[in-house]
Order: sequence, then structure tokens, then C-alpha cells
Amino acid sequence: MPEAIASKLSERKRVQDEINATFEKLKSLWNPADFNENNLTLTEDQALLLISSKLSFYGVLVLKLALNHVPVTYRTTLRGTSTPIRYTLVAGIMNKKGFSVSPCDVQKYAEVLERFCQNFLFSTLQLQDVLWELTAEGEYRFNKFIAPPVESCLKCDETLGMHNRPSKAVVYGSGGPLPASKITLECKHCKIRANQDSGFTGIKMYSEKFAFLFFLFFKKKNAFRSRVRKNKTLLLLL
Ligand SMILES: [Zn+2]
Repeated sequence: MPEAIASKLSERKRVQDEINATFEKLKSLWNPADFNENNLTLTEDQALLLISSKLSFYGVLVLKLALNHVPVTYRTTLRGTSTPIRYTLVAGIMNKKGFSVSPCDVQKYAEVLERFCQNFLFSTLQLQDVLWELTAEGEYRFNKFIAPPVESCLKCDETLGMHNRPSKAVVYGSGGPLPASKITLECKHCKIRANQDSGFTGIKMYSEKFAFLFFLFFKKKNAFRSRVRKNKTLLLLL
């Protein structure tokens, strides 16, 4: 048996080392200037992987959003530089998002994206269109998914379960009504009689309203932390 464990451990180490070495190799392969100097031919995925190895995947996403945000016509150069102001503005956004890049770096990365990654650069990250289509097609409403702003029981901390399949709801927001799916959560562990309307004995139900009341209570106590992420939709409902 010890041999089996040792062999499993050494296999795990081999795979881990291989992944680390591959990633290090990827990172060392490239600097943005190579593309222009050597006239390389890359697929979109290859170019995205190379940039991600330098900037991180999240960094490439932020770069895309920032490049989409500042129009290409912001071309004027600042005194003493040859870099268009667009890249200075994009670098400003990137820096605020925690990526330490100079306007000159941004220009090099942008040129790579523009040359090899047209689909990525000009694709939309908005889901709106497909959400409407999916809602129109099927049994679930995709435009909004409403759930109580809790993942675990507020009394015993057990993970809450979904009581049943999502039901249909409407969320009234500033943009008008939106079709939505809604769920109720339950804690099977807590032997507390549910409210009389629901009729579930021995199961504590987490309806949106119930969870919202807890939200108010805990907010007051400043102890609700990250569990309140989803409360905005609830505010619209109440
Ligand atoms: Zn519980």
C-alpha cells in the first residue's frame, strides 16, 4: 500500500511540474515587440494565450473592455511622447484595476489584439440578446434569477437546499418589467415550524421576504458581509 500512495504522489508531482513548466515556458516565450519585428502568424487562441500569460486572463478582459471604452479616434499624442492618448487613458483604467502597465505596453498589447484577435476584441460580453431568446424558447425564464441572499442557514450554518424547481416571476426595475426565475431555499437541518402559509412542518423555509428581513437584521448588526450580494433584486420586489 505505501508504494501505491508513493506512486500516486509522484504522479501528482509529475503532472504539477509539467503544468508549471509549460506555463513558465509560455510566459518566457514572448514579448509584445516580437510580433511586429518577426511578422509572426498566430491563431486568435494562440495570441490570447500568450497575452494572458503576461497579463493574466482577467487582465486581457479588462484590456478589451478598456479598449472598447476609449474610441480609436483619441489619437493625439501628449507632448514628449509618441504614444496616442488613447493608450494613456486605457493604461489609466488598467492601473486602477490593479494592472501595472505603461501606455507603451498597452499599445503593444492592443496592436496584437487588433491584428490577431478581432473576434475577441469586437465581441460583446453582454448576455441580454441570448437571455431574451432563451426565455422565449423554454421552460425557464433567463432574464433574471432571483434567490434569497443567503447560501447557508442563518441559524445553523448548514448549506441551504433548493426547495423545488424555479418558478416564474416578474422583476420591476427602472427599465420596466423583466421575466425572471425565482427559487425558495430551505434548511432541512433546523427543526423549526415553517410559517403557517407554507405548511411545511419541520422545514425552515427561506423565502425572499424572510431572507430580506434577516438581511435587515444582520445589516444592522454589521455581520452579514458578502452574503448580501444579491439583495438588489429583492429590494425591487418588496
Ligand atoms: Zn438551519
